[in-house]
Parts: sequence; structure tokens; C-alpha cells
Amino acid sequence: MNKDKQPTTRREALKNIFRSTGYLGIGGTFLGTIASGLAAPKLELRPPGALNENDFLKSCLKCGACVEACPYDSLILNNSTEDGTLGLPYLKPRIIPCYMCTDIPCVPVCPSGALDIKSLQNDDGVMDINKSKMGVAIIHKETCIAYWGIQCDACYRACPLIDEAISLVYEKNERTGKHAFLKPVVHSDFCTGCGKCEHACITEKAAIMVLPVDAATGKVGDHYIKGWDKSDESRINEIKDSKSRINKQGEPDKYLNDWESLIED
Ligand code: SF4
Ligand code: SF4
Repeated sequence: MNKDKQPTTRREALKNIFRSTGYLGIGGTFLGTIASGLAAPKLELRPPGALNENDFLKSCLKCGACVEACPYDSLILNNSTEDGTLGLPYLKPRIIPCYMCTDIPCVPVCPSGALDIKSLQNDDGVMDINKSKMGVAIIHKETCIAYWGIQCDACYRACPLIDEAISLVYEKNERTGKHAFLKPVVHSDFCTGCGKCEHACITEKAAIMVLPVDAATGKVGDHYIKGWDKSDESRINEIKDSKSRINKQGEPDKYLNDWESLIED
């Protein structure tokens, strides 16, 4: 635990924030309402079970209950007064990651549903922290020394879902002819965004970092179909049926009409 990192309790810290900005005495609900109309989403990592960013901004009351409940001080209250995110909880894993508590104490205390307990429950109702999606780790290959051929597996070893969320891929080092690369690769389906990898990374500025899921992931578009994936096959018929779809120029959408060229074997 890192209790001695903060000079006051987190509730006091929150009070200090509100005091210093003239908000003390204003109800949390009102503050939540202030937040709902503000703030372009930033690259902040929300606590486990958080709703998508827009809904989170509307729902979070800034009460600090989740921050108070975290035994590791992983959650911080934003003290920036400039961007409308004042008082919102977030993680800074380079400093303190989420330690993936099995009982996830930060979530059930949330009074507003901003942290959705159901999103972390298995079918049998048991809480499972591995279902959390605080973000997704990405690797900056140019500064990851494992990609240079220097042996380092700090992030791999730190991952609570080792060989699921991060694996090491072996590659021959053609430059030396006798060494091998062992390159860390993140698997976003499994990555929870806990940030233990970012915390453990040995480079001066972490070469692996966690970003919010929306910021870290792309979107393929519905018209691409994986011909090798059985579960995607039904969509072929949907695309055949969509031949009459019109694009923005008022013409038939060539990609959707030309569906056969989109199916890769
Ligand atoms: S799961 Fe545990 S360590 Fe992670 S944010 Fe919640 S209380 Fe803190
Ligand atoms: S407990 Fe819920 S409402 Fe309170 S600060 Fe945390 S996320 Fe927001």
C-alpha cells in the first residue's frame, strides 16, 4: 500500500479542491451536473467498471467514494480546474497502477452507477476484475528496448494476465545472426488496462502505456468481413441484401455492392 503518499485523506483532498475553487458547500449532485455539460473526454483512465466516457461524465457525482475505497491509492481525484473534469476519479498507472483487487472494493460503493457492477460480474454473479476495461496498453516499438534486441520482459512479467494480455513473440535477429528478439505483444481482447506493465517499464518514459479503449483502438467498418471466421459468415448475406444501399453521393455504395472482393480467404 502507499498510504503515506498523500498528506491528507482523499476525502480531505477533495474538500480542499472544492474549498480552493469555491465549490465547498455545493452538493455533489450539482457538481455532477456541472460535469455533464463540460469537458471533451481526455485521455484519463477511469476506475474498473466505469461506463463509457460520455455516460460516466453524466453519471459520476464526484463524491470520491471509489477513491476512498481503493486500498492502494490507485485512484486519484482530478484537481484540474481548467477542463471541467475537476473531482473526477482516474488512474495514473505510471505512478500507481490498479492492483486488480478480487473483491473490487472501489465499485460497489459507487452510489450513482457510474461504476457498473454488472459489467464486472460473471454469469453466476461473481465479481471478476479481469472483466474490467480501464484501457488498453499500447507499445511504442521505437523506444521499447526489447524491439531493439535487448533482453527485457519487465512488462510481460508484471502483467496479471501473463500470456493472455501480453505475450512474448520470438523472432530471429537478422542483424546479429545469433541473437533473438523476444518482443512483447499486447492482446487487447484480454488487456484490462490495469497499467502494471506501464508501471514496470524500465525506460525513462514508459514505452508501454495504457490509453482509454476508444483512444487506443481502431474501427474496421461493417463492410469488411473475415471470410475465415465462421461467426462472421452470416454477415455475407447481410451485405448481399444491402446492394441497394446508397452512398453520400447518391450512388450505390461500391464497397457494399462489391462484397465478393471484400471476403478474404
Ligand atoms: S480494483 Fe483495487 S486497486 Fe484497482 S482501482 Fe479498484 S480498489 Fe483500487
Ligand atoms: S464513487 Fe462513483 S460517483 Fe463517486 S466519484 Fe467514484 S465513480 Fe464518481
